Amino acid sequence: MHVGIVGGGAVGLTVAGDLAERGSAVTLYERDRLGSGASGRAAGICYDAFADPTDAAVATRALERYREWGLLSPCPYVWVAREAQDARAVREQVAEMRALGLDVEEITPEALGERYPAVETGGLAACAVANDAGTVDPDAVVERLADRARAVGATVYTGTPVSLADPTTVAMPDGTETAFDAVVVAAGPATKPLLAALDIPLALETYRAQVLVTEPVAAALPSLYDASREFYWRPWKGGILVGDGAHAVDPAEWDPAADPEFVQSTRERFRGATALDPAVGRSWAGLCTATPDRDPLVGQVADGCWVATGWQGHGLMRAPALGEYLAEQLRGTTSIIDAPPAEQFDPTRFDGDETFHPLGDPTADW
Ligand SMILES: Cc1cc2nc3c(=O)[nH]c(=O)nc-3n(C[C@H](O)[C@H](O)[C@H](O)COP(=O)(O)OP(=O)(O)OC[C@H]3O[C@@H](n4cnc5c(N)ncnc54)[C@H](O)[C@@H]3O)c2cc1C
Repeated sequence: MHVGIVGGGAVGLTVAGDLAERGSAVTLYERDRLGSGASGRAAGICYDAFADPTDAAVATRALERYREWGLLSPCPYVWVAREAQDARAVREQVAEMRALGLDVEEITPEALGERYPAVETGGLAACAVANDAGTVDPDAVVERLADRARAVGATVYTGTPVSLADPTTVAMPDGTETAFDAVVVAAGPATKPLLAALDIPLALETYRAQVLVTEPVAAALPSLYDASREFYWRPWKGGILVGDGAHAVDPAEWDPAADPEFVQSTRERFRGATALDPAVGRSWAGLCTATPDRDPLVGQVADGCWVATGWQGHGLMRAPALGEYLAEQLRGTTSIIDAPPAEQFDPTRFDGDETFHPLGDPTADW
């Protein structure tokens, strides 16, 4: 079986490695350099704190593979709430996750403060920690996945923007066409226009997310998501990466540099949540994809034509598991993930012409 893959991010590269390892001939096309899309711009937070059994199984498998590949640095993932309603949700989530056997626990704000003295715990109503979580270096992930794909025989083209002449034929910029037995489109936001050219609609929207990285800090911090203030951070090469600032955007027109207002307000939020006030080193933005029900689109959209996108900001974390899942689906073998989520991730569960806000807020300007 000869498979063409469009997109050299974490997902396309995982699929390439998993298909080639199982005996498929694989050719991957990346329009720019590997990891130049969202994968090289991600925060790299990975955790298994999901109450949904499928999401938990996917995350557990992904963490397992990142560990096997030596890419995961252990780092607890803490999520906190300030409002009573959010705190109730945190407690319910912990109970559901523990029932799935995940190493997740509720801890008191005082205990969090004892573990991480730099975290400002005043005003916290509930805290939970996922002990099996970790972080990855996005560049290292892309490099390792590319090395692995090539080592098992995949051919990887960079600087090669392609289009689809039909669902299983890839057209190069010079007009050369290659017919495959199957094509996988893992091209991030570009997946939608690539398929639209073949009249295959996809329920996919795009939003822009932003992060900043501080200068080094002399304090231990976990990864942390503040559910009430809607921002997150993780330790990053001696400093701290702090992120959010997400908003809907036209993927054809977006700024890869973070907004100055985002940098200022995020720095203030971080200062208010810790005893730290480091200077900001770098900042950037990237594009994330969204679906109407927040589950990804992973599967076949036409005979021999497969997609993998719609990660809702969790694609780097899930690439090792759902790339493997797609490779197994495509080859018709059994998925290693328990309870295969075929309907849950089936890209044809939508008509494709749905109108929805990528961040799920119907009152936002859209
Ligand atoms: C600021 C930020 C923080 C994030 N933090 C996290 C996080 O902590 N954890 C997490 O799990 N996820 C995170 N994400 C989300 C994560 O980055 C994405 O979900 C994931 O990288 C998607 O991988 P992908 O391979 O599907 O897409 P991409 O990495 O976008 O790859 C798609 C590739 O397709 C290529 N392409 C497009 N069109 C064509 C064409 N016509 N021909 C050839 N190639 C083409 C693009 O150049 C691109 O390289 C974050 C994202 C952002 C922006």
